[in-house]
Amino acid sequence: MNGRAAERLRSGHLWVYASDVESITLPDAGPGGIDGPSALVTVGDHRGLLLGTALYSPASQIALRMVSREAIDEAAWLELLEARLRRAIARRRPLLDEENDACRLCFSEADELPGVVADKYGGLLILQLLTKGLLAAGVRERCVRVLREELTPAAIWERPDARVRELEGLPAPNPEPLWFAGPAKAVASTQFRLNGLAFHYDANAGQKTGAFLDQRMNYAAAREWARRLGAANPGFEGRALDVFCYQGGFALHLAQVCRQVTGIDASRASLEVAERNLEANRACLAAQVEWIEAGAFEILRDWSAAGKRFDAIVLDPPAFAKTKRAVAGALRGYKELNLRALLMANPGGLLVSCSCSHHVAWADLEGAVASAAADAGRRVRLLERRGAAPDHPVVLNLPETEYLKCLVLEVE
Ligand code: SAH
Repeated sequence: MNGRAAERLRSGHLWVYASDVESITLPDAGPGGIDGPSALVTVGDHRGLLLGTALYSPASQIALRMVSREAIDEAAWLELLEARLRRAIARRRPLLDEENDACRLCFSEADELPGVVADKYGGLLILQLLTKGLLAAGVRERCVRVLREELTPAAIWERPDARVRELEGLPAPNPEPLWFAGPAKAVASTQFRLNGLAFHYDANAGQKTGAFLDQRMNYAAAREWARRLGAANPGFEGRALDVFCYQGGFALHLAQVCRQVTGIDASRASLEVAERNLEANRACLAAQVEWIEAGAFEILRDWSAAGKRFDAIVLDPPAFAKTKRAVAGALRGYKELNLRALLMANPGGLLVSCSCSHHVAWADLEGAVASAAADAGRRVRLLERRGAAPDHPVVLNLPETEYLKCLVLEVE
């Protein structure tokens, strides 16, 4: 590979882009070629000095993902995989308690296991193997064994992310469970708990399912700040708005401390799950909750023009900037949403403004919100800068592991 790529690896990064690879000699992988038993390649710099061993993804822009700084063989890689997965799970154990039985158990590069993602939703474990190199013999079996031994689940399913599958040229997921307890049918759906609230999970729902577990502690923070601002401000009427509410994560937390909560999302399927989640928690929620299927930009424009007012507003849009080039457009989107939200925010109210784009930096997001505040003639006081929950760790040598940004603001 070229010098720039070697430098990146020496600084602790794990990726080599296809455009930086100068030559590649694949190991003799037997009759299956690279799709066969071995997907490991030994990596050297342009002078031939050893940099380590990587998983090779022929169809991806990220051609190599390092798994070791040494030259290792398949058996040693599987041992490393097992040890790292066990360590990743051990790091999450303190996050699980009576109120929380869901978390991300392993988060790819952030746990030194590029492409391996495992989530726990109550008794169900969901494994994702997101790079071609992980399809090699033994990887899936080893992951399943470790997950079983560490967590004694009811069932383990594999559910690769559709977008990544396309980028990597991966086959469709196996519709059968990878493993399940007992002689009967495998459990495919369950309820799990986040911060004491119940949520539904269904491994059979075709599309993206599961929760945004990375927002868990931000849900609790939004709830706590809404409660505090409500207590401090006599004008706080307890009207909350969750924009891009998905299955109701923020909305249901706010419903514990607010009188009226509105969740907006463009996806009807998500709102149906949100409604089921609401029913599951009815007993501990005092608020009146409504779900509205709508485009966020359109409805916020109309509502702000019509003079609607809220005391707590959450903006948690999908990643607007998937690439660096998309950042400018994304910032216009963030500014527009925040402008509309600020026009609707009551004085002394709460604004929680998120971005889950790695390419949108803190300064970018804060600049967009500040500029929206200026246009709205409001001032916003920063209460907290928050990131993803600790089961989605940030590794400073791998800047891409930091993506979620959550600004908690008091609107003056
Ligand atoms: N806040 C949620 C996660 C939001 S994910 C949580 O914590 O669980 C982003 C959501 O935005 C998805 O549910 C998607 O359906 C919705 N969405 C995407 N574009 C939208 C648009 N233009 N208007 C409204 N909703 C949109």
